[in-house]
Amino acid sequence: MSGLLRPDEGEPVIVVNGDGKSPVVLVCEHAGKVIPRSLGSLGLSDEELSRHIAWDIGAEAVSRLVAKALDAPLLVQRYSRLVYDCNRPPESPDAMPVMSETTRIPGNDNLTPENRLARISEIYRPFHDRVARLLDHRAARGISSLFVTIHSFTPVYKGARRLLDLGVLHDRDTRLADKLLAAFGRLKDVVVKRNEPYGPEDGVCHTLNLHAQPRGLAYAMLEIRNDLIAQDAGQKLWAERLAEVLGALSLPQPRRAAS
Ligand SMILES: [Zn+2]
Repeated sequence: MSGLLRPDEGEPVIVVNGDGKSPVVLVCEHAGKVIPRSLGSLGLSDEELSRHIAWDIGAEAVSRLVAKALDAPLLVQRYSRLVYDCNRPPESPDAMPVMSETTRIPGNDNLTPENRLARISEIYRPFHDRVARLLDHRAARGISSLFVTIHSFTPVYKGARRLLDLGVLHDRDTRLADKLLAAFGRLKDVVVKRNEPYGPEDGVCHTLNLHAQPRGLAYAMLEIRNDLIAQDAGQKLWAERLAEVLGALSLPQPRRAAS
């Protein structure tokens, strides 16, 4: 059997405010923690499936608040990144990880080519096709886009404490990241760092390089420490911060980047 999603389980992508007028386009690849029924629990407990290994805690809530505040479109991916990590290409071992941090994922052991293809064709491709369609639709109507993905990271990874509140990540195009680093750097209570807690060398720029780079769109990936946005009050505070900074951005000159 290669089918993954049952007809009533829904698309991987939710489009929020698709006609939003903001130049900012928000994407949240690790928003959800839903496991398709055909995969059971992937061999994990409910506790493991609510940890950061399964999803980006708080990221969807913050993203939705920012989308509303800015009138920005937002694309949300509903399924757990343990099923398919939509910020990784199909050929990456991390796309369907056998290990996440120090946890083995039994349901990802010994996947057949058919199993892999089902996850790619039912989650990865429809999600990214929808992102591409939204960007192309805006471009066709003459609307420029600033491409921003929103993530969260665990404060302690493999025993090491991460000493930042916010990471601004980018690959070769630093136009938007530089502006965001300067703007967040002016906020009193925020420790912001460039390309931390990881960076392009860790393969985390896939979505940016798939959509923004080839279209010449300025882009950045935001990583918020998840203990800061696990509850309503923190989500609201961080959404206000992001909306203030992102809402003040002006569009840079379009650039047709080399591939
Ligand atoms: Zn993430």
